[in-house]
Amino acid sequence: MKLAGCLAVAAMLVVQMPLAQDVPGLPCAGADKECAQQAMKSHAATRIATWAAALSLPVAERIGPAPPQLVEYINLDNILNGYPERPRAATLDAGLLADVRGAMTDLPAEIWKLVGDRLVGVYFVEGLGGTGYTDYVFDAQGRPTRGFVVLDAAVLAPQRANAWATWKENTPFAPGAGYRLEARIEADGNDNRRNAIQYILLHELGHVLSIGADIHPPWNLAPKEIDSAARYPFFDLSWTVDRAADKYGSRFDAHFPQRTSTVYYFGAKLAAADMEATYASLKSTNFPSLYAATAPADDFAESFASYVHVVLMRRPWQITIRHQGKPVASLRACWGEPRCAEKQELLERLVKRAY
Ligand SMILES: [Zn+2]
Repeated sequence: MKLAGCLAVAAMLVVQMPLAQDVPGLPCAGADKECAQQAMKSHAATRIATWAAALSLPVAERIGPAPPQLVEYINLDNILNGYPERPRAATLDAGLLADVRGAMTDLPAEIWKLVGDRLVGVYFVEGLGGTGYTDYVFDAQGRPTRGFVVLDAAVLAPQRANAWATWKENTPFAPGAGYRLEARIEADGNDNRRNAIQYILLHELGHVLSIGADIHPPWNLAPKEIDSAARYPFFDLSWTVDRAADKYGSRFDAHFPQRTSTVYYFGAKLAAADMEATYASLKSTNFPSLYAATAPADDFAESFASYVHVVLMRRPWQITIRHQGKPVASLRACWGEPRCAEKQELLERLVKRAY
């Protein structure tokens, strides 16, 4: 199993957890990756029949504690990836549940029309080892046609929109004296937990929307298995396939040397002093955010979240980098700018279901 669409790791959880725990009831020991890989093949959580009851509900009601088969599946995925966390189902307290429902209700109606067919539900755990996670559900013919979203209730509980975005966007850079990077995705009056959850959810819904849509290659295939980039028009605007090396590149790599050192969440590879040049390079690409430049699936999820948030919902999105207190670089959402025009056109067609 490939790394799922998104696993946004809260760093403070990673360093405190013990390694390779065995969990009673799991079919694999804590360090047995081969067992986990086998157990994940045709796992119940990835079969459409498992979700029949959820799919009979209106999409806004497909939320709740993660069912046992889903908890087992994400535990196996953590074993496979060597992550130490062993998630368990979470029941939301009334305040957090109200914020999740509010975040969902406030999204434009056309978004729910787009994802309703593809989303088996939004399910909550604690100890995910990340904020959000999306993966495929396969139909009876073995095609990925739907997806589930898993969110970590404990990670969401203390968040606020701007602090969360600022934390995330700093993770590729080692701290450096005198440098500060701030992200602003909400005005002061809206800088709350509900809107943090909404932005996190929008990114995951972007992954759900990509399922079966030929937007980018499926994330359960290796790059060497992709025979035609042209089949995926959104992907083709930014990405290249190196089948011999079995990896994706970007069309901008010759002028964007920092891209391959951009690693979110897992340990910074860039220095704080690289912030200014990294964002200068980013402006000569069609990636709407730095995270979008890390992988094809996250390019689309970031583009979708940013487009819905900024264009459809008229919210702010800005990165500001300061050195010794003085602004030295900034990045705004690219919608309306020539550099993102082709992606914007595809997103507009997608929202109108004309992709
Ligand atoms: Zn993602």
